[in-house]
Amino acid sequence: MVKIICKVDILAIGAHPDDVEVGAGGLMAKFNQLGLKTAIIDLTAGELASNGTPALRSQEAQQAAQILGVVWRSCLGLPDRALAASRANINALVQMIRESQPQLILCPYWEDRHPDHVRAAQLIEEAWFDAGLAKIATQGQPHRPPNLWYYYLSRAGEPKFIIDVGEYYEIKRAAMLAHLSQFGKLAGSKETFLNCGPGSLLSLVESRDRYFGSLIGCSFGEGFTTRTPLAINNPSALLGVLK
Ligand SMILES: [Zn+2]
Repeated sequence: MVKIICKVDILAIGAHPDDVEVGAGGLMAKFNQLGLKTAIIDLTAGELASNGTPALRSQEAQQAAQILGVVWRSCLGLPDRALAASRANINALVQMIRESQPQLILCPYWEDRHPDHVRAAQLIEEAWFDAGLAKIATQGQPHRPPNLWYYYLSRAGEPKFIIDVGEYYEIKRAAMLAHLSQFGKLAGSKETFLNCGPGSLLSLVESRDRYFGSLIGCSFGEGFTTRTPLAINNPSALLGVLK
């Protein structure tokens, strides 16, 4: 996989190396099948997780990226549990948005049990805005992506729209399970809510995605929301969607 940052259509950003898979893995696989170029930025290496080292988590993240078909995946290297929308952090993300010139940014939902997901949303929103300000001096041309969609992690609100990802759910599962240190049980790994029991995260995510799918008449769906109304240019394209 080429890790050099290049232009893509969709840029998905998470606080930790498995966030994008959990919230939008099906959509990422679907975009890839549709021929769109995708990329992922992990803001931190997830170094404070109970299981896994940064080196192992990086390997797992790259494997998951290959499964999802992303063009590149990069870790910004910000500190886990100390994410801040500081000028330096905003500028670092602004530069990556400008270099990759996406039309859509996928961002964690602004309400969540994990404070890093909330802070990630704040940082991404500030960087998304500043990326369009010509006088914010970083490398790359000013570019504010026209679309900013929020995916769900441990909290889900009422989605503004749900995307049918039934055909891509095996890919999503495989991408999540690539994070074996988090969702599997390696020798010596600690039991956490991510890897243990019927309430483990993989089964919770699958239940949520089945529920979202049921709302639109398909097997699995991923829900998304936005802060502003979605513009529909081609209303006839909505006539064929599932109900
Ligand atoms: Zn996370």
